[in-house]
Amino acid sequence: APLKIVIVGSVAAGTSAAAKARRNTETARITVYERDHDISYSGCGLPYFVGGEVADIDDLTPRDPAWFKARYDVDVRTGHEVVAVDTAARTVTVRDLATGRTFVDTYDELVLATGVRAVVPPIPGAGSTGVFSVRTPTDARAIRAWIEDSESRGRPVRHAVVVGAGYIGLEMTEQLTARGLAVTVVEAADHTMPRMDADMSARVDAEVRRHVRERGGDLLLSTKVTGITADDGGVTGVGVAREQAAEHLDAELVIVSVGVRPHVNLAEQAGVELGPTGAIAVDRRMRTNVEHVWAVGDVAESFHVITGEPVWVPLGSTANKMGRIAGDAMTGGPLEHRGILGTSIVRVFDLGVAQTGFTETQARAAGYDVEVLHNIKPDRPEYLGGTPLVIKAVADRATGRLLGAQAIGASGADKRIDVLATAITYGADVADLFHLDLAYSPTYATTKDPVHYTGMALT
Ligand code: FAD
Repeated sequence: APLKIVIVGSVAAGTSAAAKARRNTETARITVYERDHDISYSGCGLPYFVGGEVADIDDLTPRDPAWFKARYDVDVRTGHEVVAVDTAARTVTVRDLATGRTFVDTYDELVLATGVRAVVPPIPGAGSTGVFSVRTPTDARAIRAWIEDSESRGRPVRHAVVVGAGYIGLEMTEQLTARGLAVTVVEAADHTMPRMDADMSARVDAEVRRHVRERGGDLLLSTKVTGITADDGGVTGVGVAREQAAEHLDAELVIVSVGVRPHVNLAEQAGVELGPTGAIAVDRRMRTNVEHVWAVGDVAESFHVITGEPVWVPLGSTANKMGRIAGDAMTGGPLEHRGILGTSIVRVFDLGVAQTGFTETQARAAGYDVEVLHNIKPDRPEYLGGTPLVIKAVADRATGRLLGAQAIGASGADKRIDVLATAITYGADVADLFHLDLAYSPTYATTKDPVHYTGMALT
């Protein structure tokens, strides 16, 4: 009988696994169950739909089940939730959410690509109308409609509170500010971008503060949300506490972006082991501890390129890769995961904010004797519009090996972080950076590139 692959979850990782499995084998039967109705979408584009930079939500969800059937002969069944797995019998129990009917399907190989859910903090009023998290196209449509219909509801949305200043919170802050709202960002930590070093994200703090204040908003650090107030017309405000004092912020819209947790209930029920991060433990081929069960994307752990230790950094870039690797491995291909550095970038108003590998804080926590390399150089000559690019790299003092880097600037942070990520992946030490043969024209770079300067810091 042909190989039968069942995949649970149909966004980045699940669809990548399906597509790669099909490229490797014409005969396999491939079914994807998705409880939502949107599939294969760009979650990363959602803030820009809310802000209007992306006009049409369909641009973010270009593929539907008919496309997958025609292109890959993959059956994507939306509105179908997998509610149980029997790994001994190799079956899944599926509920058709439209009819409530439950049925059993069999598999030879099962892929868990169930992703994450947004954390809803246990604060009074968190369930009020007008309080949203940003995870799916449904969320993004609802937020945009909430704003655009607000005049006719009689309570125009003019003030928004964004809870959490990680990258999604800041993208939403930028986009809501662009819509003309007064946005107040509330963050419990003492700096934005909690996964970056505070000395670097201080620049982001300043950028956010400057832009939101122009519209009457603010950035409140070291501040906790104590409750959300609402009446029949939806949310009216947010209570916060900082420096022991209580304050009330007016808000007709609240965005909660305080993190995500992996959807592991199905895995736990099936006896699939979780790793130390709380996501599903997998090997380099994306196999779990249970035979014929694989896990990919945000629900699965990865491992660190430098240390080999398990890490969990849920990103679309990694999710796509993991899906492809599992799809290849289960159809006899050679692909193996080589780990991650957690490389990421976000635009925050006029700044590109990027990081790869360890921050200084993380490197110290991992026990390294850390050398810190700082430089601020224009990304291009000032005569062609160059602007300051701040690079902070960390290296292992004992060996000189680069451990990580952060880059912030109005332009050029993207290119430098990718060069640094590449160098770190191949084990470069600090001095190696100076010797890289990088492209130069004054329209793009300086004769000695900012990356070269990082490599010159110790000599
Ligand atoms: P998910 O996207 O979480 O999809 C999992 C799917 O599984 C869901 O549709 C869910 O309904 C379904 N599912 C779960 N359980 C079941 C079940 N029992 N039965 C049936 N279906 C089930 N990443 C980047 O790299 N760069 C970015 O700039 C970036 N920006 C982002 C911005 C926003 C606003 C958001 C929300 C995310 C962003 N990401 C970004 C992260 C990226 O979107 C995720 O890493 C990616 O979507 C993960 O894909 P996934 O397939 O693993 O999981």
